[in-house]
Amino acid sequence: TDDFFKNIVSHAKEYGFVFPSSEIYDGLSAVYDYGQLGSELKNNLKTYWWKAMVQLNENIVGIDAAIFMHPTTWKASGHVDGFNDPMIDNKDSKKRYRADQLIEDKITRYEKDGKTEKATKLQQDLDDALSTDDLARLKAIIEEHAIVCPISGTSNWTEVRQFNLMFATQMGAMADGAEQVYLRPETAQGIFVNFLNVQKTGRMKIPFGIAQIGKAFRNEVIARQFIMRMREFEQMELQFFVRPGTEMEWYNKWKETRLKWHLALGSNPEKYRYHDHVKLAHYANAAVDIEYDFPFGFKEVEGIHSRTDFDLKQHQEFSKKKLQYFDPEINQNYIPYVVETSIGLDRLFLTVLANSLVEEDLSTEEKQDSRTVLRFHPVIAPVKAAVLPLTKKDGLPEKAREISAKLKLDYNIQYDEKDAIGKRYRRQDAIGTPFCITVDHQTLEDNTVTIRERDSMEQYRVNADELTNKIGELVSW
Ligand code: ATP
Repeated sequence: TDDFFKNIVSHAKEYGFVFPSSEIYDGLSAVYDYGQLGSELKNNLKTYWWKAMVQLNENIVGIDAAIFMHPTTWKASGHVDGFNDPMIDNKDSKKRYRADQLIEDKITRYEKDGKTEKATKLQQDLDDALSTDDLARLKAIIEEHAIVCPISGTSNWTEVRQFNLMFATQMGAMADGAEQVYLRPETAQGIFVNFLNVQKTGRMKIPFGIAQIGKAFRNEVIARQFIMRMREFEQMELQFFVRPGTEMEWYNKWKETRLKWHLALGSNPEKYRYHDHVKLAHYANAAVDIEYDFPFGFKEVEGIHSRTDFDLKQHQEFSKKKLQYFDPEINQNYIPYVVETSIGLDRLFLTVLANSLVEEDLSTEEKQDSRTVLRFHPVIAPVKAAVLPLTKKDGLPEKAREISAKLKLDYNIQYDEKDAIGKRYRRQDAIGTPFCITVDHQTLEDNTVTIRERDSMEQYRVNADELTNKIGELVSW
């Protein structure tokens, strides 16, 4: 599985999906750039989310709030005082770790070694320590389970300390009263402060939702596992406003709906599980993670939280503006309760890569052969089809370009005439293109082309004039 993970990272780089940030300067820790295919895939994932969450729901609308917010926002939300990670340093290697993650890694190891009981017990201990913010207990657990530093191999640890994750910067000219502002650590607060703006201008009636896709920033204590834990990342969040007392019903509904959404991408259901939180964040009365079985174990991809009226109430108190809703059905004013679904786009991207990347053995008795395929669902594939002239002569390139120019109006298409056709098919397999369209001599006679399907490698002929509709059928739901 370590090898599989390495393959994912190197494949992502080799084919232009993800590059380390500022690589010519040796990179910047936990920051990544999306390349030519990565940005297409990411855009398609955003569209898939936006379509499902916003456009297909009459009572959900989307916004795009600024990254900078009034600094009081973060006092009200609790981030200034409470957005901390417990960290611990190894005195020998001088490396810093998140105490809870060291323990989680141990749990994963117990699970892998079949020590299920030990794993369950340790998970409980961890949840208990976290729910009471018991830093001394975290340290004690690390000692009891003889957890060592992966670098130095020793257990010579410091005490566990809290570390705030927000990035701060200055706004305005420094001399005349510069103000400290933060890069937002979550997109949710941009939705809460706009709650009344959207409710009033959109004439929204409870229950309704506000969705948003955008960057978030966290000064993670440790950076690791590729795009799993980044310092600059992207979130796709829904805040769903409901009548107090109905929140558990909506929480359960969203919990189910969101898992279905993941599975609709064609993922293997066995790779997903729910993890109910025992430790609840200060704002929540119920919380669950949707976890994916990454090559390094089950980890959170998405969180569903019942946030009560905590955020709106806090903002009402700090801003001194009423953030209430008049519910005409029961003739009452109240601060709505909120159910949130929050997914990391980059983590989703990683699940999609892990789900899709396969090495296929195609060996026959005559010869050894294999291919690397990204089996993306056609809807999210960065390139929908490649148009390939069989040879570079006899007018085939001209015909192929003509077909490609037409398809480009509707789909992301690649035209490729370099190398033998088999090699070109393999290149498209490796970037997950679901269909290759080959233009050959017969095309010039009867205007038909072959469509080669990525997964089955089967080929069949269709009329070139039908391609736009045909591809449309193949790449839609
Ligand atoms: P973790 O426990 O893994 O740090 P979290 O519980 O702090 O995550 P939330 O605050 O619930 O995460 O954020 C919602 C989602 O945002 C997560 O499910 C995850 O997909 C994504 N996310 C959070 N932190 C990061 C990060 N540093 N890099 C990439 N994605 C992230």
